[in-house]
Amino acid sequence: MSALVRVRFAPAPTGSLHVGGARTALFNYLFARGRSGTLVLRSEDTDLTRSSIESERVIEDDLHWLGLDWDEGVDRGGPYGPYRQTERRDRYGLAAARLLETEAAYPCYCTPEELEADRSAAEARGQAPKYSGRCRDLTQAQRSALESEGRKPAIRFRMPERDVYVEDLVRGSVHFPAGSIGDFVIVKSDGNAAYNFAAVIDDSEMAITHVIRGDEHLPNTPRQVSLYEALELPLPLFAHVSMILAPDHQKLSKRHGATALSEYREQGFLAPALVNYLALLGWSPGDDRELFTLDELTRAFSIERVSKSPAVFDHAKLRWFNAHYLRALPLEGRADLFVAWAARDPRIARSPELSDQRWRKRLAAAIGDHVEILSDVAPAVEELLRDDVTLGDTAREALKEGSARSLLSDLADVARHSNADGFEGATSREGLSELGRRHGVKGKALFQPIRLAVTGTEHGIELPLLLPLLGPARVASRIASALSQDS
Ligand code: GLU
Repeated sequence: MSALVRVRFAPAPTGSLHVGGARTALFNYLFARGRSGTLVLRSEDTDLTRSSIESERVIEDDLHWLGLDWDEGVDRGGPYGPYRQTERRDRYGLAAARLLETEAAYPCYCTPEELEADRSAAEARGQAPKYSGRCRDLTQAQRSALESEGRKPAIRFRMPERDVYVEDLVRGSVHFPAGSIGDFVIVKSDGNAAYNFAAVIDDSEMAITHVIRGDEHLPNTPRQVSLYEALELPLPLFAHVSMILAPDHQKLSKRHGATALSEYREQGFLAPALVNYLALLGWSPGDDRELFTLDELTRAFSIERVSKSPAVFDHAKLRWFNAHYLRALPLEGRADLFVAWAARDPRIARSPELSDQRWRKRLAAAIGDHVEILSDVAPAVEELLRDDVTLGDTAREALKEGSARSLLSDLADVARHSNADGFEGATSREGLSELGRRHGVKGKALFQPIRLAVTGTEHGIELPLLLPLLGPARVASRIASALSQDS
């Protein structure tokens, strides 16, 4: 069966890609690539007011950024095109005509007001809203009369009065009892196909073998299954992937933080980290392995290991993955990336250090362990390159103690008389111990005053890495300024 696999990712182009959509796209990609199958990217642009070509582009860019590609779609055509639903109206029209002919569907003249009144009445009775069936059995004469009033009909599918079982590769057999679903609109009164209808016609005509999508679509599936049956079309296999929840177990939304893939990109997450993390939201390899490249995922992925229970989106875990991927970059590549992100801050964009190869690598080595996402880089570099540091009261007090002042004056002197290389030696572990010996201090009594004077803070990059990064001139001037604040 492997050569025949055809799957699709079918976003509505109404905005950028949500992390949930990205995960659905990824699972389709992994399934297709793992089985030498075909991935179709279809634009479900039937919501004319909200859909746009720009949004199609944005979604394509987001998918490409993740490292995903596809075989057929709006951008590249293919044998089953067009791949944009607004360009497929004729096909929906033909299928709707067939359903009207066999009376599997009928024209419905209900106005939005009538339908709204039905809905409120059902609600008042404590019942789930379901189409009343008002237009189900109209005679030809009644239809003509309504049409002569100027009413434009929608086309409604006559939902068969029988149980529907959706055989789902993730959820098993899901039962929808007879009568639980009302007749539903397949073509709106403006002539546009409704989602459930367009999806069935497209999946069928595009020879889709597996429909892998989010389980918010599970309630649509019995409707779609009934349409396939009425049109005597073979059913694809369905796999509904569990929702992604926020840590509070509510639906993941804006108030929990970023939800658009583009926001993660902007914050400085790396695509391989996101891919790795998203793959593990709802799929597991069956052991405790966590780190996978896209290729490794392609080999390891299987629908059988997709979980029915909701996945919880854990920002801290995603940051952990990102930190791992950043650390795994070769030093030079990491340095280039850090500098590119640092240069986004106009206060430091033109600092000569950013084009000094040695400094760049030093930076990458020094702050590498402290950076989880690339947007952490600019503030860290700005702290290194800024002219002044302000000392708090505690720091000022600490610098009055013991030999702090003489130690700092000594270090400032060394800095004033060193070039970059000499300063690197003077601030190496041994160099600093030697400085300490001159003032009878070691350990914290040696390191803490220096750190406080040059950064104003108590923790951070180890001094032998930090001091050469600041460079002798900056160390000398920061010490001078700290000592003047202290007096
Ligand atoms: N356009 C639908 C969505 O964005 C896709 C539904 C489907 O995959 O069938 O959720």
